[in-house]
Amino acid sequence: MTGHPPGREDMIYDCIIVGASPGGLQAAIHLGRNNRKILLIDRGGGRTFHAREIENFLAHPTIAGPELIRIGTAQALGFGVHFENAVVTAVERAERFSVHTRDGKTFYSSFVIAASGGRDNLLPIENLERYFGSGFYTCIDCDGYRTTGKKLVIVGNGMNTVRLAFGVKEMYTKDIILVLVIYEPPGDIKELLESEGIPLIKGRPKRIVGETRINGLELSDGKILPCEAILTDFGFKLNDDYLKGLPLKKDNRDFKYQVNHHFEASVNGLYIVGPLNTGNDQAVIAAGQGATAAIDIKKRLLDI
Ligand SMILES: Cc1cc2nc3c(=O)[nH]c(=O)nc-3n(C[C@H](O)[C@H](O)[C@H](O)COP(=O)(O)OP(=O)(O)OC[C@H]3O[C@@H](n4cnc5c(N)ncnc54)[C@H](O)[C@@H]3O)c2cc1C
Repeated sequence: MTGHPPGREDMIYDCIIVGASPGGLQAAIHLGRNNRKILLIDRGGGRTFHAREIENFLAHPTIAGPELIRIGTAQALGFGVHFENAVVTAVERAERFSVHTRDGKTFYSSFVIAASGGRDNLLPIENLERYFGSGFYTCIDCDGYRTTGKKLVIVGNGMNTVRLAFGVKEMYTKDIILVLVIYEPPGDIKELLESEGIPLIKGRPKRIVGETRINGLELSDGKILPCEAILTDFGFKLNDDYLKGLPLKKDNRDFKYQVNHHFEASVNGLYIVGPLNTGNDQAVIAAGQGATAAIDIKKRLLDI
C-alpha cells in the first residue's frame, strides 16, 4: 500500500491491528472513524486472498476476496489509519504493548487486535494451486454450495471427514466418493456409508487431473477417481507465532484462543478476532468481531 503514512516508532498508537483481514479492516474502519491513532500492520496475502468469489457477505451478491481486502484497506486508510507492510514477529505487554516486526522496527500502543487468520493444511497434491478456491475446496461453509449437484471427492482422515460426507450429501450433492488416507471407520459407520451410497476408498491423493477444469483425482496407487470438485478436510494452522510469548489461554485442544464477548483475550487489552479465536471462520463473522472489539476499545479509551 503506497502513498499512505507508514508506521511511526515515535508515536504511541491507541491500537495496533495485526492483519488486513476482514476482522482487522473492520476494526480499523471503526477506530479510524473515531479519529484514533491506529496502525494496521500486514505482510500481504492471507486466506481471504484465495476466496475467488465470496457470495455470502451481506449486500455483496458476489465479491472476490482480494477485492474485499483492497476496498476495505482503502476505506480504513481513508480514515487516517497508518499502514505498515511488515511481518509482526512478537508482541510484548508491559505498561503498554510493544509490537516488533521482522525488519527490526518496534511500534507501541495501548491496545492490540490480532486479526492474522490462519493457513490451510494441504496435502502435497500436484496441480492443486491451479484449482485452489476454484474446484478444489477446504471449507464447507465457504464453498459447499459450489459443489451442488457435482461429482465430488471428499478427502480426509478421521470421523470428522465421514460426518462431513454425510452433511454434504444432505445439503449439496449425492454423487460423493469418500477418500480416507489411513483412518479406518468403525464397522457400523462403514455400513451406514454403504447404505447412503457413499463409496469409501483408502488412499493418498497424488494429482488433480484436468488442464482447464477438474476431471478427476489421481491417487498414489495410480487409480483415478472421476470428479468435478474436490473437498479436503485437514483443518488449518493459525498465524500466531508472534503471540507465543504472551500468557494467553487457549481452548481445551490447546489450539484456538479463548476470548470474552468483546473478543478480548486473557491478556488485558489484547483482542483476537477471526479464526484465531474459538468462533466460526467466515469473512462476515470476522468483520462483526472486528467491529465489536473496536467499539469496546473505543469505550475503554474514553474510560466510560
Ligand atoms: C478458498 C477459500 C474460499 C473462501 N471462501 C469464503 C466465502 O465464500 N465466504 C467467507 O465468509 N469466507 C470464505 N473464506 C474464509 C475467509 O476468506 C477468511 O477466513 C475470513 O475472511 C477471515 O479472514 P482471516 O481472519 O482468516 O484472515 P486472512 O484473510 O487470512 O488475513 C490475515 C492477514 O493477516 C496477515 N498476517 C498474518 N500473519 C501476520 C504477521 N505475523 N504479521 C503481519 N501480517 C500478518 C496476512 O498476510 C493476511 O493479510 C474462504 C477461504 C478460502 C481459503
